[in-house]
Amino acid sequence: MQADTKKSNKDSDNLIPGATGDWEVVLGLEVHAQVNSNAKLFSGASTEFGGAPNSHVSLVDAAMPGMLPVINKECVAQAIRTGLGLKAGVNLRSTFDRKNYFYPDLPQGYQISQFKQPIVGEGEVEIEVDGDTKRVGIERLHLEQDAGKSIHDQHPDYSYVDLNRSGVALMEIVSRPDMRSSKEAQAYVTKLRTILRYLETCDGDMDKGNLRADVNVSVRKPGDELGTRCEIKNVNSIRFIGQAIEHEARRQIDIIENGGTIDQETRLFDPKTGKTRSMRSKEEAHDYRYFPDPDLLPLEFEQAYVDELAKGLPELPDEKKHRMMDEYGLSAYDAGVLVAERASANYFEDVVKGLDNAKRDGKSAANWVINELFGRLNKEGQDISDSPVSADQIARIVNMIGSGDISGKIAKDLFEIVWTEGGDPGEIVDKRGMKQVTDTGAIEKVVDEVIAANPDKVEAVKAKPTMIGFFVGQVMKASGGKANPKAVNDILKKKLGVE
Ligand code: MN
Repeated sequence: MQADTKKSNKDSDNLIPGATGDWEVVLGLEVHAQVNSNAKLFSGASTEFGGAPNSHVSLVDAAMPGMLPVINKECVAQAIRTGLGLKAGVNLRSTFDRKNYFYPDLPQGYQISQFKQPIVGEGEVEIEVDGDTKRVGIERLHLEQDAGKSIHDQHPDYSYVDLNRSGVALMEIVSRPDMRSSKEAQAYVTKLRTILRYLETCDGDMDKGNLRADVNVSVRKPGDELGTRCEIKNVNSIRFIGQAIEHEARRQIDIIENGGTIDQETRLFDPKTGKTRSMRSKEEAHDYRYFPDPDLLPLEFEQAYVDELAKGLPELPDEKKHRMMDEYGLSAYDAGVLVAERASANYFEDVVKGLDNAKRDGKSAANWVINELFGRLNKEGQDISDSPVSADQIARIVNMIGSGDISGKIAKDLFEIVWTEGGDPGEIVDKRGMKQVTDTGAIEKVVDEVIAANPDKVEAVKAKPTMIGFFVGQVMKASGGKANPKAVNDILKKKLGVE
């Protein structure tokens, strides 16, 4: 992509109009991502989703007196991998602190978290909005325990507590307040999720609450100091993040424009009303009385250990995207669509492996995967992993288009046959006589017939050369779509004397 052809992405493009002029919304996100790990952060209990209530609870998770937490090494490795994937500095020494608060689903009376010295420091995530690239700063990533779950809707008089989640490892990923629109915030969470899924450090399943965002929203007049922010807790879908921000920014603007001030508070987004509502007045860090957890030693490791983990990382979406653009000539958009999920990127790379000429046909292959295959899978509600058409079959179809054996139109019929009946695309083409006619003698014969049948149009095309399209259409029709369109064009031009 050339820098000079890019649209400018100025923060001023995102301003929200108000009665007193334009407003700027300032957004920072704290994303809680559940670590992919079989066991919890400080106990051996299972992290499996959906067990009977309180069936995955060790004595540590239930905070029985005298139990001691023991760090799960795999969770530490996952946090380091994630830090590397966020191009962040990994701290060779970090510490665990107790964050004290009372809630029935928190049996310890505190959450073990990292406050002063997190395991991962500053990094960044590259996002793209409307074709423009922007970097969102990462302030830190720290490890902490999840709490249990309170269940209020089972009985009119009682609340229940399920501790299956208690002690599950979370990575809290804190961004800088670098985002200026709901679109940017959505792009950030989407990209972060993609990176985590590539790294296999979090499955990103927002429906199960395995990735959820606390969204900090404030508004100001451009150039002013930061306004007072409200934090919208635990938003668990990309769409809701957008709705929550839109609503919250407008609410704050209306309050200020009517002479009020914003109270710093924690709010909840209600998907049913599309509105945010107050949950509690926001607490400051000192309210939690953080102090170092005396049961846990500082977390220390060697640089060599970090380097070893770095070697095992997969190619990440941004790198993959740029490589696909360089190697196969894909557009930024197409490459972006393909790398959004690791499975679709892998599928496409398998298609490329089957191409006779990847440089020539890479772009065509991307079109086929994105438009025909993804389009069809979407329509059928199927996942790429259940695709009835294999990467190899797509490659064979694309090869035949590239070599001129079949036309693009015939290829669509062929795709349909492969989708419903399976089989080798080359054999299907041979058996059903779908090969493109490039034999000029055969095409000439059809052209002569069409010209003879339309003497009036022959006069018209001499006056108006664009009329040649009529003849092309007739010849293609007469050949059952199998005539090579370029040959048809050339022969028609010659015979009709049109340039
Ligand atoms: Mn947290």
